[in-house]
Amino acid sequence: MTAPIVRFAPSPTGRLHVGNVRTALVNWLFSQGQGGKFILRIDDTDLERSTKENEAILKEDLTWLGLAWADTFNQSERFGIYDQAADKLRAMDLLYPAYETAEELDVKRKIAQSRGRPPVYDRAALNLTDADRAKLEASGLKPHWRFKLSGERVEWNDLVRGPQSIDTSSVSDPVLIREDGSYLYTLPSVVDDIEANITHVVRGEDHVTNSGAQIEIFMALGGKAPEMAHMPLLVGADGSALSKRIGSLSVGQLRERGIEAMSICSHLAKLGTSDNIEPRSTLAELAAEFSFSKIGRAPARFDETDLENLNAALVHAMPFAEAQARLAAIDPRADNEAFWLAVRENCARVSDAGNWVEMIFGKAEAMIADEDREFIIGAGAHLPAGELTASSWSEWTNKLKAATGRKGKTLFKPLRLALTGMEHGPEMAAVLPLIGRAKVLERLG
Ligand code: GLU
Repeated sequence: MTAPIVRFAPSPTGRLHVGNVRTALVNWLFSQGQGGKFILRIDDTDLERSTKENEAILKEDLTWLGLAWADTFNQSERFGIYDQAADKLRAMDLLYPAYETAEELDVKRKIAQSRGRPPVYDRAALNLTDADRAKLEASGLKPHWRFKLSGERVEWNDLVRGPQSIDTSSVSDPVLIREDGSYLYTLPSVVDDIEANITHVVRGEDHVTNSGAQIEIFMALGGKAPEMAHMPLLVGADGSALSKRIGSLSVGQLRERGIEAMSICSHLAKLGTSDNIEPRSTLAELAAEFSFSKIGRAPARFDETDLENLNAALVHAMPFAEAQARLAAIDPRADNEAFWLAVRENCARVSDAGNWVEMIFGKAEAMIADEDREFIIGAGAHLPAGELTASSWSEWTNKLKAATGRKGKTLFKPLRLALTGMEHGPEMAAVLPLIGRAKVLERLG
């Protein structure tokens, strides 16, 4: 297979949410795994709803996720090129003007439905004569332009869904250009895919029907269509549409909640596939494991709790270098490898490390129960001499065990409470040297 060229084509009308990220990620993993190229196309033909601000945020989100693109361009800068393609289709008699208003079309649809027929456009506009058209235009009407489907079956072997067949006689001729001359998504997408030599169109399954028409436009304008892969949609854990919660599931929100980019990518790369969902620390690993054949056909259920758990697992094993900048931003004292290694397993997100800074380096409120007071006061005398190290805790507690006869919970719990003020927390063996000899003795009273 020649190296694939794919594109991710978001519309900058809002923030990237997990559904979009999954499409971007699958395109990225597939192309990178095959030594191919990932292009970012900004689908901003809808000039009213698209904003530069959304575009900037979208690029920032993709960059944060690590999904770098080899090239990017905006559809809004290419209207002249789409005009040329439209002219070409007109010259082939594949693009025709139609003058029905939205209300008229609605009436036609209702009539068809009441007669038990599918609500497919009746192609009345094809019967208009030049004189009819001139009259309609003289009355102030402007045409919208429809692509003339062949009426035959369009077939392709979808990389996710398997053999697909769409009977184009059961679909309305799609409108490519609106009355005001603006383009709907269908034509610009095909024109750009041809020009960028896109080899694989990978997108959500909500585009399957579009593919029937788009394949015919590909054939008309470029002679052949790219491979197609339509991903099942993501749904919520309860099976509901995710679109209702788009805001809270945006990349920005997840990031603010302390979810790592690699947690999002590890989760979304495997969701709905035959692979287990496990944390991966690089996109390269995910790319090596990617295959369209692993993607199931059922909607994939996205559960935030699973994502949170995966994030915690990733944080528990995160090397210091990866967390360092963020730790330093929390507190200069947290910019310390031994500290991170001691506390990371008690963190569900990197920012949780902040909860342990004061306990270790600051003023922990020692908690000493009356019945343990004597034991705690005497414990300092058994502390191993010199600088405290990773083995000091076991040496110390062994000595205390021998000296006092205490063991298990009655030995460890009072010490932890006296030294940290908490019942649970990071391993004392790692915490002890961080607290340091002077503070340990001070906290023992
Ligand atoms: N802008 C379209 C969307 O976001 C792109 C679809 C495609 O990939 O062809 O749905």
